This record gives sequence, structure tokens and C-alpha cells, in this order.
Amino acid sequence: MSLPLLPERTCGGCVECCRVIPLDLPELAKPTGELCGYCVDGAGCSVHAIRPQTCRVWFCLWRAVELSDDWRPDRSGVIVRPDGVENGVITLYVLRRSDFLTGMDFFVTVAGWIAEGIEVALSVPGPVGTYPARAIVTDWLRPAIEDGDPEDFLARVLASLDRLEQHDFQPDGITARYAVA
Ligand code: SF4
Ligand code: SF4
Repeated sequence: MSLPLLPERTCGGCVECCRVIPLDLPELAKPTGELCGYCVDGAGCSVHAIRPQTCRVWFCLWRAVELSDDWRPDRSGVIVRPDGVENGVITLYVLRRSDFLTGMDFFVTVAGWIAEGIEVALSVPGPVGTYPARAIVTDWLRPAIEDGDPEDFLARVLASLDRLEQHDFQPDGITARYAVA
């Protein structure tokens, strides 16, 4: 990712990317949605000093963009993915339907992105070991944003999530392998 990280921001207790992001490296392979075997509850990465390069460079956008603390993925249930942002697309990977989705922070922020001409996609995980579903929803959300209507916005977000969850999730084909040494 090319965006610099915010200097004062750390992951804290969040380990969401160590669960949801698939890895298929010689020293570490883990299926989509499987919590990495090196992730220790409450302590984070147990192989931090020798973790794979992919783990060193992958950060969600909450680490790089001025979003409120409520956006931290383990609190919000939403990972703002870094991939695609260079092409003007922000993907909101909705891990669970938290109360955060109903709040003005979420509405105002997403509305601001769309007003700036940024495309917004929603994505949901499937069962462990499958690729997520994803769809661009900018035009679907736009009427609620232009009307300044948070309730309609939320209804449109939830309808999108309902539809994405009906997706025919495809296996990622990754067999777990833990060999960081
Ligand atoms: S090796 Fe460490 S940083 Fe990488 S996925 Fe596992 S717990 Fe997370
Ligand atoms: S999802 Fe973001 S905040 Fe959470 S551990 Fe990963 S990089 Fe840190």
C-alpha cells in the first residue's frame, strides 16, 4: 500500500486482518477467515520479529486515513480494505452487522467519499476457506446520500449485504501450513 501510516495509530487489540486475509506463502498458508495459528488472543502476533513480509506491509486503511477510533475493525466490524484505493475504489469489508453501521459516523463518512467521486464497494466473508463476495454499490447508495437520508442509506446497505450473503462462495483452495521459523 502506498499511503503512509498515521504515526500515532496502532492496531491495539485488533487482529481482524490476521483472521480474514488469506495467505499462501511458503512459510505460512492460511485459508480466508481462519485466525492465524501465530496469533495469540490478546497479545497479537507471536512471531512478530520474523513474520512474513506480507504481514509487514498489509494494513487496513484505518491505520492510514483519519477515521474515528470507532472505525477500528474489531470495534466497527468493518475493514476498510487498502486494495483498489489507488484506482479510486474503497471496499468496505463488513465482517458483521454491528451497531456501527447504523450510526451517523458511518453514513457521513461514506457519503463524503461518494460526494468526492470515490467508488464504494461492499464485501462480505463467506464460510472459512472461501473467497469473499464483493460488489460496487456507489450508484445504489447515491439516492439516499443525495437525499441526506440515513435511514434509507442503512436500508440500502443492509439490502446489499443480504444479496451478497446469497453469493455462491468459491473455495480459496488454501491448505493451512505454519512453518515460520
Ligand atoms: S504471522 Fe503474525 S502478523 Fe502474520 S497473520 Fe499470523 S499472527 Fe498475523
Ligand atoms: S485490520 Fe487494521 S487495525 Fe486491525 S490488525 Fe489489521 S491492520 Fe491493524
